[in-house]
Amino acid sequence: MNYQTHILGYPRIGAQRELKWALEKFWRGEIDASQLEQQGRELRKTHWREQADAGLDFVSVGDFSFYDQVLDTACQFGIVPARYGVNSANLSLTEYFTLARGNQQHAPLALTKWLDTNYHYLVPELADDCEFKLNTNRLLAEIKEALNEGHCVKPVILGPVTLLSLCQLEGKSTTTPLSRLNELLPIYVELLENIQRLGVSWVQIDEPIFCTDLAPDQQLALSRAYENLSGVEGINILLATYFGEVRNHLNLLLTLPVAGIHIDASQCDEDAIRAAKYLGSQKVLSLGIVDGRNVWLNDLQVSHQLVEKIRHHVDDSQIWLASSCSLQYVPHTVANESNLEPQLRSWLSFARQKLDEIVQLAQPLESLLPAIEANQLVLAEKLLTAGVIDSAVRERLAEELPNIDRNRTSYQQRKHKQQAALQLPLLPSTTIGSFPQTKEIRKARAQYLSGQISAADYQQFLQAETRECIHKQEEAGIDVLVHGEFERNDMVEYFASQLAGFASTSAGWVQSYGSRCTKPPLIWGDVSRLQSMTLDWVKFAQSITNKPVKGMLTGTTTILQWSFLRNDIPRRHVSQQIALALRDEVLELEANGVQIIQVDEAALREGLPLRNDKQADYLDESVDSFLITTSGVREETQIHTHMCYSQFNAIYESIIALDADVISIEATRNQMKLLDVFSQSAYPNQIGPGVWDIHSPRVPSVAEIKSLIKKALYYIPAEQLWINPDCGLKTRGWLETEASMKNLVSACREIRAEL
Ligand code: GLN
Ligand code: ZN
Repeated sequence: MNYQTHILGYPRIGAQRELKWALEKFWRGEIDASQLEQQGRELRKTHWREQADAGLDFVSVGDFSFYDQVLDTACQFGIVPARYGVNSANLSLTEYFTLARGNQQHAPLALTKWLDTNYHYLVPELADDCEFKLNTNRLLAEIKEALNEGHCVKPVILGPVTLLSLCQLEGKSTTTPLSRLNELLPIYVELLENIQRLGVSWVQIDEPIFCTDLAPDQQLALSRAYENLSGVEGINILLATYFGEVRNHLNLLLTLPVAGIHIDASQCDEDAIRAAKYLGSQKVLSLGIVDGRNVWLNDLQVSHQLVEKIRHHVDDSQIWLASSCSLQYVPHTVANESNLEPQLRSWLSFARQKLDEIVQLAQPLESLLPAIEANQLVLAEKLLTAGVIDSAVRERLAEELPNIDRNRTSYQQRKHKQQAALQLPLLPSTTIGSFPQTKEIRKARAQYLSGQISAADYQQFLQAETRECIHKQEEAGIDVLVHGEFERNDMVEYFASQLAGFASTSAGWVQSYGSRCTKPPLIWGDVSRLQSMTLDWVKFAQSITNKPVKGMLTGTTTILQWSFLRNDIPRRHVSQQIALALRDEVLELEANGVQIIQVDEAALREGLPLRNDKQADYLDESVDSFLITTSGVREETQIHTHMCYSQFNAIYESIIALDADVISIEATRNQMKLLDVFSQSAYPNQIGPGVWDIHSPRVPSVAEIKSLIKKALYYIPAEQLWINPDCGLKTRGWLETEASMKNLVSACREIRAEL
């Protein structure tokens, strides 16, 4: 028999990023709200059609958003801070975008990463006096749209416990968001009743919080919530867990009186089999069998075998097949990847292709068998393809890794040698690496890529930009310079495009937030360095200044976090391969006279696993790779690292273990408070807390920067302190960059004089 099939959600940005272009036009005032709405309707229609045409039994509705689905959920329940002065029951698109992006008067809501993904959501702010109320206009309208198209609709809504767990309290509230659950539940009930009236019977409620370490109050809240919501007559709740294992919470999940549960079976067979065993004969088990977090062809044989195991315990009618999570974390379709090697292309499955995989797995064995055979052939061929396993890389790793001494000599000893070599003033000033990526630079890159200008002309253009950048840093009086990263469009793709084992897609866009998308590279084979990747640019920059110029690399963990990773070998092996390639680069820079080398680990905090007991392994791997990359240099060579995310408590031990001579971090918005943990433990190495918020064009005044430096000095002795912006400057314009740089240096000099 055929199993029921569905997905947890579909990418909304559009195969050609139609939503991005429409949003940006709307924000520039080039189209009006009704035109934007029209684009939204067209995208939804296309995406539902794709699901229905593939043969899914349900289409998902409610996964579309003009900015972020968490923000939509907050608006739907009236969780909108009063300071915005808007009426959430009747929110215009402009008001909605004010919450998301801010305007002259209002800062936007906080943006943070969604669980362990690289998608960012807007953090709902819950005030004590916030009264929940239901604004269903959008969701109900979208359900009607889909019903009118003749689809079998399964609305998707974010569950109350995950929603409240992700809320932030406004101002001085003393309660916890979860204590508001009892007030919120009746509103959810009302929503379900409204949905039921439209003739819809299955509703997917997402509670990804199930895959984290649940606190006792969260467990209680889950019980209470679903006892309540399952009482709505005529509605079947499919409770969806995803992003990992439910394991110790499986009992709780199974006892909830819902009509069905969804398990992320791509991560954990065991959860699915145990769930089937204890499911009983009434509930539906939705198996998230096709991985929604990665881009590789599903192994149909493995998935089929799992389904067969599940069939031992439950009736076929109870089994639904699905993606492990929403497909919004993978690009839309492989169809547009005409530049990829055909073979590599045949190993890929983006959102549209995953629909077919799910439908295939639901077919009776006689139709499934030929598909499995074809699939096994491709997978077997993959193993034999040159580059997937590169024996030279493997041999080198086996030989060299055990012999790499991960420890440099003690920092106290290195420090003197570095100071003797570099002769830096107290409170040295520097920047994080990138300088404005202007329209001209993007234009020249596009022209070069499309063959309109020659490689030599492009090179010359970039050299002129770099020269100008060095000149501006010298003029401002910065102590340690950077070349500006004009040759890089992205800090990961730049390295991916030069390393063996990586491939870049041409349209593999994934929404990061709002209209922002990233195009993660694919790691398909063993990784090695083919040639030097950054040397020419640092050398060029160093040749035109007497000040030291920092070499600039992206670290292993950040490359891994922002790429799609092969799944046929352990992550640690890929990590070691990249680390060794970067080590070669570091040593080559050093051999060519580069005295300071920065290895960025912007995503180290972001990649921290959701479950506590998985964190140690991840951090151990990350630290080891950083040390493989950096430990080979002489004592005189100064290693820097940079991290953006400002929650360091959970990774502090690892920061110590990295033993970078200098770390720069984002600290302006939290007014240096995060230096607390560094100060309490008497952090031994040097640190540059950001004193210039680079997220806005605002120029910080000398007085402001001085006050931040003084705050920093309260935590960190002057001998250990560096002065720098929060992050790279690539999204800034030159006007504010030059002014801010000058203010930073003035502030620095004035404080030096006062010390
Ligand atoms: N060196 C990079 C830059 O300056 C670091 C960016 C980041 O931390 N995200 O752009
Ligand atoms: Zn940063």
